[in-house]
Amino acid sequence: MTNNDTIFEQEAKRLVDTLMAQPATQSDIDIVERQLGRYPRGMVAVGARCVCGRPLAVVTRPMLPGGIPFPTTCYLTSPEAVKAVSHVEAAGVMREYNDLLAEDETVAHAYADAHQRYLAFRHELAERLGDDESHIALTSAGGMPTRVKCLHALLAQTLVMGEGVNPIGDLTLARIVDEFAPNVCRCSIDAE
Ligand SMILES: [Zn+2]
Repeated sequence: MTNNDTIFEQEAKRLVDTLMAQPATQSDIDIVERQLGRYPRGMVAVGARCVCGRPLAVVTRPMLPGGIPFPTTCYLTSPEAVKAVSHVEAAGVMREYNDLLAEDETVAHAYADAHQRYLAFRHELAERLGDDESHIALTSAGGMPTRVKCLHALLAQTLVMGEGVNPIGDLTLARIVDEFAPNVCRCSIDAE
């Protein structure tokens, strides 16, 4: 075990403590259901909120009811964020970010750490909830640790864990600021 593993474990414990102390309310679940157009199965907590209070990303348990492994622990639910990220994906930004990972060792290293931090977070959730994570233990999301495949998943990590954890999620957030930002409410889903 390296030093970073220990740091990431402690970080994961603190984050899970914070999330478990504020479980999703029925109102949160209702809003997320309308955001996604389906019931958010296995939703543990709201991982990030808009300045208005509506959920932007949710934290989902490692195993859904019915025994289905679910690797996308941090899941983007804000329709405005989803749309903004789809716009930059369509503009070819993922190729640019893959090139950046190939060329910039510092970014690549931070991205590999973001993968470990994702796994540490999921592992902590699995332990607290008693979920089996053996099917997804080494799988994070979005293409990590070496590729960029889904900016939605990477942005969700940035929103849930904060900036400074996932460099590609951070770049994505900066890139879409004219369309989406957590501190500017553009929510279209009614609260009730
Ligand atoms: Zn809002």
